[in-house]
Amino acid sequence: MESITGKESLRELLVDWRRSGDHIALVPTMGNLHDGHMSLIALARQHAERIVVSVFVNPTQFAAGEDFAEYPRTLQRDARRLKQAKVDVMFAPDVDAIYPYGLESATTVHVPFLTNELCGASRPGHFDGVTSVVSRLLCLVQPDVVLFGQKDYQQQAIIRRMVTDLCMPIEVVTGPTQRDPDGLALSSRNQYLSDSERAAAPTLYAALKEVGEALETGSEDYTGLEAAALATLKAAGFQADYLSIRRADGLGPPGRDSDELVVLAAAWLGKTRLIDNIVVHI
Ligand code: AMP
Repeated sequence: MESITGKESLRELLVDWRRSGDHIALVPTMGNLHDGHMSLIALARQHAERIVVSVFVNPTQFAAGEDFAEYPRTLQRDARRLKQAKVDVMFAPDVDAIYPYGLESATTVHVPFLTNELCGASRPGHFDGVTSVVSRLLCLVQPDVVLFGQKDYQQQAIIRRMVTDLCMPIEVVTGPTQRDPDGLALSSRNQYLSDSERAAAPTLYAALKEVGEALETGSEDYTGLEAAALATLKAAGFQADYLSIRRADGLGPPGRDSDELVVLAAAWLGKTRLIDNIVVHI
C-alpha cells in the first residue's frame, strides 16, 4: 500500500491506473478506522480493481464547540489496517492540500436539499462542510465509484443528490451499518462514552427497532411512534436532537403510498452525540 499525502503523487498514480483500464473506488473517511469502515472497503472490492481510502478529519464539517480537536487521530494504526486489507492507497492530505486558500475563503459546495433538517438542524453548516470536502476528494480521485455507510443515512442521500446535480460520472454505493453485538452502531465517537453511557447506548438502536416493528405491523401513527421512542430514549438518559420517520427515498414525510421508510435519530449521551437509523419495508 502507498501512503500518500500530496495531490501530485496521487494524480501520477491515478493516471497509471487509468491507463491500464483499472476501475477506481474511493472510500472517504475521517480515520480511526473500525469494522464499519472496513466493511465499505470490502464492498469497494466488488466494484473496482483499485481502492483509495482517504483519511482526513475535515475541519469545515465541525462547528465551533464541536469535537474537531478531540476527534481521535490514529493514522499509523489506520495505515496498518489498510495495508492488511490490501488497499492500494491511503490518501491522508493535510488541511492546506484540501483548502489551499484557507478555510475562511474556501469555495463551498452547498446542496439545498435536506441540509437544514434532521442532523442539519442541530448542526448548522455541517453538510456544507461534508459536500465541500467530498466534492474535492471526488475531483482529486475521479473514482468510478464512491462508497458511504448507511449509518450516515442523510449524508449519503445529500451526496447522491450532489453527484447527480453536478453531473459527476460516479456511482454512489451505500453499505450496511456495522454494529457491536448489542446493536450499537460502530462509530469513532463511541470511545467518548463512559462505562455507564456505553451500557445505555444500545437503547438507541432498540428504540428504532421498536418503531420499525410497529410500522411493519401496519401502524401509521407516525407522531405517536416518534413520541413513544423519544420517551424511551429520555428514560435511558439520552437527550435527543430528533427521532423521525421519513420516506427512505428522498427523506420526505411518510404517506400512504410509501413502501420503504427510514427511522432516523440523533441523540446525546452526556457529551457524545450518537446517530443511527433503520430502513423498514412495509
Ligand atoms: P467517518 O470516518 O465516521 O466519517 O465515516 C466514514 C464512512 O464510514 C462514512 O461513509 C460512514 O457512513 C461510514 N461508516 C461509519 N460508521 C459505520 C458503520 N458502523 N457501518 C458502516 N459504515 C460506517
